[in-house]
Amino acid sequence: MSGGWQREGKRSAGRSAGEAEVARRLVPPLGQGQALQRWLAAARRLQLPHAVVVSGATGGGKSTVLQWLTAALLCPSDLDTEGPCGVCRVCTMVANDAHPDAHVVALARDDDDRDANKEQKKSFYVISVEQVRHAQEQLAHLPVMGRARVLRIDAADRMHASAQNALLKTLEEPGQHTFLLLEAARPEHLLGTVRSRSQRLPVLPLPQELLRAEILRRLPTAGGVVDRLVGLAGGSLGRALDLHTERMTKLHDLVVGALADPNSLRPFAVAGAVLDGCTERRDQLQAASDFLWLWRAELRARLTALATAANGAYPAELAEPWTSWLEASLYAERDLGLQIPAGQALAACLLRCQAGG
Ligand SMILES: [Zn+2]
Repeated sequence: MSGGWQREGKRSAGRSAGEAEVARRLVPPLGQGQALQRWLAAARRLQLPHAVVVSGATGGGKSTVLQWLTAALLCPSDLDTEGPCGVCRVCTMVANDAHPDAHVVALARDDDDRDANKEQKKSFYVISVEQVRHAQEQLAHLPVMGRARVLRIDAADRMHASAQNALLKTLEEPGQHTFLLLEAARPEHLLGTVRSRSQRLPVLPLPQELLRAEILRRLPTAGGVVDRLVGLAGGSLGRALDLHTERMTKLHDLVVGALADPNSLRPFAVAGAVLDGCTERRDQLQAASDFLWLWRAELRARLTALATAANGAYPAELAEPWTSWLEASLYAERDLGLQIPAGQALAACLLRCQAGG
Protein backbone atom coordinates (compact mmCIF):
# COMPACT_ATOMS: atom_id res chain seq x y z
CA MET A 1 0.00 0.00 0.00
CA SER A 2 2.88 2.35 -0.45
CA GLY A 3 3.30 4.98 -3.08
CA GLY A 4 1.90 8.38 -3.83
CA TRP A 5 0.37 7.47 -7.18
CA GLN A 6 -1.25 4.36 -5.74
CA ARG A 7 -2.66 6.20 -2.80
CA GLU A 8 -4.05 8.84 -5.11
CA GLY A 9 -5.60 6.17 -7.31
CA LYS A 10 -7.06 4.26 -4.42
CA ARG A 11 -8.30 7.42 -2.77
CA SER A 12 -10.60 8.24 -5.65
CA ALA A 13 -12.43 5.03 -4.78
CA GLY A 14 -14.14 6.77 -1.89
CA ARG A 15 -15.87 9.38 -4.04
CA SER A 16 -19.49 9.27 -5.06
CA ALA A 17 -20.35 7.61 -8.37
CA GLY A 18 -21.09 10.82 -10.29
CA GLU A 19 -17.93 12.52 -9.16
CA ALA A 20 -15.81 9.42 -9.70
CA GLU A 21 -16.96 8.80 -13.27
CA VAL A 22 -15.06 11.86 -14.40
CA ALA A 23 -12.11 10.95 -12.21
CA ARG A 24 -10.83 7.62 -13.55
CA ARG A 25 -10.98 5.40 -16.58
CA LEU A 26 -10.38 1.68 -16.64
CA VAL A 27 -6.73 0.89 -17.42
CA PRO A 28 -5.65 -2.39 -19.05
CA PRO A 29 -2.93 -4.34 -17.19
CA LEU A 30 0.57 -4.26 -18.70
CA GLY A 31 2.79 -7.18 -19.66
CA GLN A 32 0.61 -10.09 -18.45
CA GLY A 33 0.43 -11.93 -21.78
CA GLN A 34 -1.41 -15.16 -22.49
CA ALA A 35 -1.77 -16.26 -18.88
CA LEU A 36 -4.11 -13.42 -17.99
CA GLN A 37 -5.84 -13.68 -21.38
CA ARG A 38 -7.21 -17.10 -20.49
CA TRP A 39 -8.67 -15.83 -17.21
CA LEU A 40 -10.25 -12.86 -18.97
CA ALA A 41 -11.87 -15.00 -21.63
CA ALA A 42 -13.29 -17.23 -18.86
CA ALA A 43 -14.57 -14.15 -17.02
CA ARG A 44 -16.34 -12.91 -20.16
CA ARG A 45 -18.21 -16.24 -20.31
CA LEU A 46 -18.87 -16.06 -16.52
CA GLN A 47 -16.84 -19.26 -16.20
CA LEU A 48 -14.16 -17.89 -13.91
CA PRO A 49 -13.47 -20.06 -10.81
CA HIS A 50 -15.64 -18.76 -7.98
CA ALA A 51 -12.65 -17.69 -5.91
CA VAL A 52 -9.40 -16.33 -7.32
CA VAL A 53 -6.38 -15.16 -5.31
CA VAL A 54 -4.53 -12.49 -7.29
CA SER A 55 -0.99 -12.49 -5.91
CA GLY A 56 2.15 -10.52 -6.66
CA ALA A 57 4.55 -7.88 -5.39
CA THR A 58 3.36 -4.66 -3.75
CA GLY A 59 2.92 -2.02 -6.45
CA GLY A 60 3.15 -4.74 -9.08
CA GLY A 61 -0.24 -4.10 -10.69
CA LYS A 62 -2.57 -6.41 -8.73
CA SER A 63 -5.22 -3.68 -8.41
CA THR A 64 -5.17 -3.04 -12.16
CA VAL A 65 -5.55 -6.76 -12.89
CA LEU A 66 -8.39 -7.03 -10.34
CA GLN A 67 -10.33 -4.13 -11.82
CA TRP A 68 -9.85 -5.39 -15.37
CA LEU A 69 -11.01 -8.87 -14.31
CA THR A 70 -14.01 -7.42 -12.43
CA ALA A 71 -14.93 -5.42 -15.52
CA ALA A 72 -14.59 -8.57 -17.66
CA LEU A 73 -17.24 -10.16 -15.43
CA LEU A 74 -19.60 -7.17 -15.41
CA CYS A 75 -19.13 -5.37 -18.75
CA PRO A 76 -22.29 -5.83 -20.87
CA SER A 77 -20.64 -4.90 -24.19
CA ASP A 78 -20.61 -7.54 -26.96
CA LEU A 79 -17.70 -5.87 -28.72
CA ASP A 80 -14.96 -7.94 -27.12
CA THR A 81 -15.15 -11.58 -26.04
CA GLU A 82 -11.57 -11.60 -24.73
CA GLY A 83 -11.84 -8.81 -22.17
CA PRO A 84 -13.94 -5.85 -21.00
CA CYS A 85 -14.59 -3.03 -23.48
CA GLY A 86 -12.91 -0.66 -21.02
CA VAL A 87 -14.94 2.40 -21.99
CA CYS A 88 -18.63 1.77 -21.26
CA ARG A 89 -20.50 3.10 -18.24
CA VAL A 90 -20.12 -0.21 -16.38
CA CYS A 91 -16.35 -0.36 -16.99
CA THR A 92 -16.02 3.23 -15.77
CA MET A 93 -18.02 2.45 -12.65
CA VAL A 94 -15.72 -0.52 -11.96
CA ALA A 95 -12.68 1.72 -12.42
CA ASN A 96 -14.05 3.97 -9.68
CA ASP A 97 -15.16 1.19 -7.33
CA ALA A 98 -18.67 2.54 -7.80
CA HIS A 99 -20.47 -0.43 -9.39
CA PRO A 100 -23.39 -1.66 -7.25
CA ASP A 101 -22.58 -5.33 -7.93
CA ALA A 102 -18.85 -5.02 -7.21
CA HIS A 103 -18.37 -4.94 -3.46
CA VAL A 104 -14.99 -4.05 -2.03
CA VAL A 105 -13.60 -4.95 1.38
CA ALA A 106 -10.37 -3.15 2.30
CA LEU A 107 -8.26 -1.86 5.17
CA ALA A 108 -9.13 1.61 6.48
CA ARG A 109 -7.54 4.54 4.62
CA ASP A 110 -6.45 7.97 5.79
CA ASP A 111 -9.35 9.69 4.06
CA ASP A 112 -12.11 7.26 5.03
CA ASP A 113 -15.28 8.36 6.74
CA ARG A 114 -14.44 7.69 10.38
CA ASP A 115 -18.01 6.90 11.44
CA ALA A 116 -18.37 4.24 8.74
CA ASN A 117 -15.02 2.78 9.83
CA LYS A 118 -16.27 2.44 13.39
CA GLU A 119 -19.52 0.87 12.30
CA GLN A 120 -17.81 -1.75 10.13
CA LYS A 121 -14.86 -2.18 12.54
CA LYS A 122 -12.38 -1.14 9.83
CA SER A 123 -8.76 -0.76 10.91
CA PHE A 124 -5.48 0.13 9.23
CA TYR A 125 -3.92 -3.22 10.08
CA VAL A 126 -6.38 -6.05 9.77
CA ILE A 127 -9.62 -6.91 7.95
CA SER A 128 -12.24 -7.72 10.56
CA VAL A 129 -14.88 -10.42 10.66
CA GLU A 130 -17.51 -7.65 10.80
CA GLN A 131 -16.33 -6.32 7.43
CA VAL A 132 -16.60 -9.76 5.84
CA ARG A 133 -20.07 -10.33 7.34
CA HIS A 134 -21.22 -6.91 6.10
CA ALA A 135 -20.07 -7.83 2.56
CA GLN A 136 -21.79 -11.21 2.79
CA GLU A 137 -25.08 -9.49 3.64
CA GLN A 138 -24.72 -7.39 0.49
CA LEU A 139 -24.05 -10.50 -1.59
CA ALA A 140 -27.35 -11.93 -0.41
CA HIS A 141 -29.18 -9.50 -2.70
CA LEU A 142 -29.70 -10.11 -6.42
CA PRO A 143 -27.35 -8.37 -8.83
CA VAL A 144 -28.52 -4.80 -9.41
CA MET A 145 -27.29 -4.46 -12.98
CA GLY A 146 -27.50 -7.99 -14.27
CA ARG A 147 -24.53 -10.15 -15.20
CA ALA A 148 -22.80 -11.09 -11.94
CA ARG A 149 -21.81 -10.13 -8.43
CA VAL A 150 -18.21 -9.62 -7.39
CA LEU A 151 -16.69 -9.41 -3.93
CA ARG A 152 -13.13 -8.07 -4.01
CA ILE A 153 -11.06 -8.24 -0.86
CA ASP A 154 -7.98 -6.00 -0.94
CA ALA A 155 -5.08 -7.08 1.29
CA ALA A 156 -6.90 -10.38 1.85
CA ASP A 157 -3.72 -11.70 3.46
CA ARG A 158 -4.43 -9.23 6.29
CA MET A 159 -7.80 -10.82 7.09
CA HIS A 160 -8.15 -11.84 10.70
CA ALA A 161 -8.46 -15.63 11.08
CA SER A 162 -12.08 -15.18 12.21
CA ALA A 163 -12.77 -13.16 9.03
CA GLN A 164 -11.25 -15.92 6.90
CA ASN A 165 -13.35 -18.51 8.69
CA ALA A 166 -16.48 -16.44 8.09
CA LEU A 167 -15.56 -16.22 4.41
CA LEU A 168 -15.48 -20.01 4.08
CA LYS A 169 -19.28 -20.04 3.93
CA THR A 170 -19.21 -17.90 0.77
CA LEU A 171 -16.30 -19.90 -0.68
CA GLU A 172 -18.27 -23.11 -0.29
CA GLU A 173 -21.62 -21.78 -1.51
CA PRO A 174 -20.94 -18.60 -3.46
CA GLY A 175 -24.32 -18.54 -5.17
CA GLN A 176 -24.91 -18.27 -8.90
CA HIS A 177 -22.70 -15.85 -10.83
CA THR A 178 -20.95 -14.72 -7.67
CA PHE A 179 -17.18 -14.34 -7.77
CA LEU A 180 -14.66 -13.69 -5.01
CA LEU A 181 -11.46 -11.93 -5.98
CA LEU A 182 -8.82 -11.84 -3.24
CA GLU A 183 -5.79 -9.58 -3.54
CA ALA A 184 -2.78 -10.84 -1.61
CA ALA A 185 0.89 -9.83 -1.63
CA ARG A 186 1.50 -12.82 0.69
CA PRO A 187 -0.98 -15.56 -0.15
CA GLU A 188 0.80 -17.87 2.29
CA HIS A 189 -0.83 -15.84 5.08
CA LEU A 190 -4.25 -17.09 4.00
CA LEU A 191 -5.60 -20.10 5.87
CA GLY A 192 -5.14 -23.45 4.13
CA THR A 193 -8.92 -23.82 4.04
CA VAL A 194 -9.23 -20.57 2.06
CA ARG A 195 -6.34 -21.37 -0.28
CA SER A 196 -7.62 -24.85 -1.06
CA ARG A 197 -10.95 -23.39 -2.18
CA SER A 198 -9.36 -20.78 -4.45
CA GLN A 199 -7.39 -20.70 -7.68
CA ARG A 200 -4.29 -18.57 -7.90
CA LEU A 201 -3.57 -15.93 -10.52
CA PRO A 202 -0.01 -14.58 -10.13
CA VAL A 203 0.63 -11.09 -11.50
CA LEU A 204 3.91 -11.20 -13.42
CA PRO A 205 6.73 -8.66 -12.95
CA LEU A 206 7.14 -6.35 -15.94
CA PRO A 207 10.04 -7.02 -18.32
CA GLN A 208 12.78 -4.37 -17.89
CA GLU A 209 12.29 -2.68 -21.27
CA LEU A 210 8.54 -2.33 -20.79
CA LEU A 211 9.09 -1.01 -17.27
CA ARG A 212 11.64 1.52 -18.52
CA ALA A 213 9.32 2.76 -21.28
CA GLU A 214 6.37 3.05 -18.90
CA ILE A 215 8.41 4.98 -16.28
CA LEU A 216 9.55 7.47 -18.93
CA ARG A 217 6.00 7.82 -20.25
CA ARG A 218 4.71 8.71 -16.80
CA LEU A 219 7.77 10.57 -15.52
CA PRO A 220 9.27 12.27 -18.59
CA THR A 221 11.88 14.03 -16.44
CA ALA A 222 13.21 10.79 -14.89
CA GLY A 223 15.69 10.07 -17.70
CA GLY A 224 18.72 10.54 -15.46
CA VAL A 225 17.54 8.07 -12.81
CA VAL A 226 15.53 5.58 -14.85
CA ASP A 227 18.27 2.92 -14.67
CA ARG A 228 18.31 3.13 -10.88
CA LEU A 229 14.51 2.89 -10.73
CA VAL A 230 14.40 -0.12 -13.06
CA GLY A 231 17.28 -1.78 -11.20
CA LEU A 232 15.59 -1.53 -7.81
CA ALA A 233 11.92 -1.98 -8.69
CA GLY A 234 11.99 -5.72 -9.37
CA GLY A 235 9.56 -5.44 -12.28
CA SER A 236 7.01 -3.45 -10.27
CA LEU A 237 5.82 -0.21 -11.89
CA GLY A 238 4.20 0.99 -8.66
CA ARG A 239 7.49 0.55 -6.79
CA ALA A 240 9.45 2.29 -9.56
CA LEU A 241 7.19 5.35 -9.52
CA ASP A 242 7.18 5.36 -5.74
CA LEU A 243 10.98 5.32 -5.68
CA HIS A 244 10.95 8.69 -7.42
CA THR A 245 9.21 10.38 -4.48
CA GLU A 246 11.08 12.54 -1.99
CA ARG A 247 10.16 10.23 0.88
CA MET A 248 11.59 7.12 -0.81
CA THR A 249 14.65 8.98 -2.05
CA LYS A 250 15.42 9.90 1.56
CA LEU A 251 15.03 6.27 2.69
CA HIS A 252 17.15 5.07 -0.22
CA ASP A 253 19.92 7.53 0.71
CA LEU A 254 19.90 6.04 4.22
CA VAL A 255 20.24 2.51 2.79
CA VAL A 256 23.08 3.51 0.47
CA GLY A 257 24.81 5.38 3.32
CA ALA A 258 24.63 2.34 5.61
CA LEU A 259 25.92 -0.02 2.92
CA ALA A 260 28.73 2.33 1.85
CA ASP A 261 30.56 1.89 5.12
CA PRO A 262 29.28 -1.18 7.00
CA ASN A 263 32.08 -0.87 9.60
CA SER A 264 30.76 2.38 10.93
CA LEU A 265 27.07 1.39 10.85
CA ARG A 266 25.19 3.02 13.74
CA PRO A 267 22.00 0.97 14.14
CA PHE A 268 20.06 3.24 16.50
CA ALA A 269 20.93 6.40 14.58
CA VAL A 270 19.84 4.85 11.27
CA ALA A 271 16.59 3.48 12.77
CA GLY A 272 15.88 6.94 14.22
CA ALA A 273 16.52 8.63 10.86
CA VAL A 274 14.18 6.19 9.08
CA LEU A 275 11.32 7.00 11.45
CA ASP A 276 12.10 10.70 11.66
CA GLY A 277 8.91 12.73 11.12
CA CYS A 278 6.55 9.73 11.47
CA THR A 279 4.25 10.45 14.39
CA GLU A 280 1.50 7.90 13.76
CA ARG A 281 2.23 4.24 14.36
CA ARG A 282 1.08 3.23 10.87
CA ASP A 283 3.42 5.80 9.27
CA GLN A 284 6.30 4.31 11.25
CA LEU A 285 5.32 0.84 10.06
CA GLN A 286 5.18 2.05 6.46
CA ALA A 287 8.57 3.80 6.69
CA ALA A 288 10.18 0.74 8.30
CA SER A 289 8.85 -1.70 5.74
CA ASP A 290 9.78 0.60 2.85
CA PHE A 291 13.30 0.93 4.27
CA LEU A 292 13.58 -2.86 4.59
CA TRP A 293 12.30 -3.33 1.05
CA LEU A 294 14.89 -0.85 -0.27
CA TRP A 295 17.54 -2.55 1.82
CA ARG A 296 16.81 -5.89 0.16
CA ALA A 297 16.46 -4.37 -3.32
CA GLU A 298 19.87 -2.69 -2.97
CA LEU A 299 21.51 -5.84 -1.55
CA ARG A 300 20.04 -7.99 -4.31
CA ALA A 301 21.29 -5.57 -6.96
CA ARG A 302 24.80 -5.76 -5.45
CA LEU A 303 24.74 -9.54 -5.14
CA THR A 304 23.64 -9.82 -8.78
CA ALA A 305 26.45 -7.48 -9.83
CA LEU A 306 28.98 -9.62 -7.90
CA ALA A 307 27.66 -12.82 -9.46
CA THR A 308 27.85 -11.27 -12.92
CA ALA A 309 31.40 -10.05 -12.30
CA ALA A 310 32.41 -13.54 -11.10
CA ASN A 311 31.32 -14.77 -14.54
CA GLY A 312 30.08 -18.22 -13.59
CA ALA A 313 32.59 -18.83 -10.79
CA TYR A 314 31.44 -18.75 -7.15
CA PRO A 315 31.04 -15.04 -6.25
CA ALA A 316 33.77 -13.42 -4.19
CA GLU A 317 33.79 -13.56 -0.38
CA LEU A 318 32.35 -10.06 -0.42
CA ALA A 319 28.93 -11.59 -1.07
CA GLU A 320 28.83 -13.37 2.31
CA PRO A 321 28.01 -10.51 4.70
CA TRP A 322 25.35 -9.23 2.31
CA THR A 323 23.59 -12.56 2.25
CA SER A 324 23.30 -12.48 6.04
CA TRP A 325 22.15 -8.84 5.87
CA LEU A 326 19.38 -9.97 3.56
CA GLU A 327 18.35 -12.59 6.10
CA ALA A 328 18.37 -10.03 8.90
CA SER A 329 15.91 -7.85 7.00
CA LEU A 330 13.55 -10.80 6.60
CA TYR A 331 13.59 -11.34 10.38
CA ALA A 332 12.74 -7.66 10.79
CA GLU A 333 9.79 -8.00 8.38
CA ARG A 334 8.51 -10.84 10.52
CA ASP A 335 8.92 -8.69 13.65
CA LEU A 336 6.85 -5.91 12.06
CA GLY A 337 4.16 -8.46 11.26
CA LEU A 338 4.15 -9.47 14.93
CA GLN A 339 3.47 -5.79 15.76
CA ILE A 340 6.85 -5.25 17.42
CA PRO A 341 7.43 -1.44 17.39
CA ALA A 342 9.06 -0.32 14.13
CA GLY A 343 12.08 1.35 15.78
CA GLN A 344 12.85 -1.76 17.78
CA ALA A 345 12.50 -4.08 14.76
CA LEU A 346 14.78 -1.89 12.64
CA ALA A 347 17.44 -1.47 15.31
CA ALA A 348 17.44 -5.24 15.94
CA CYS A 349 17.91 -5.84 12.21
CA LEU A 350 20.83 -3.42 11.95
CA LEU A 351 22.45 -4.77 15.12
CA ARG A 352 22.19 -8.27 13.63
CA CYS A 353 23.87 -7.01 10.46
CA GLN A 354 26.62 -5.40 12.48
CA ALA A 355 27.26 -8.58 14.44
CA GLY A 356 27.03 -10.97 11.48
CA GLY A 357 28.51 -8.83 8.71
ZN1 LIG B 1 -17.41 -2.16 -20.76
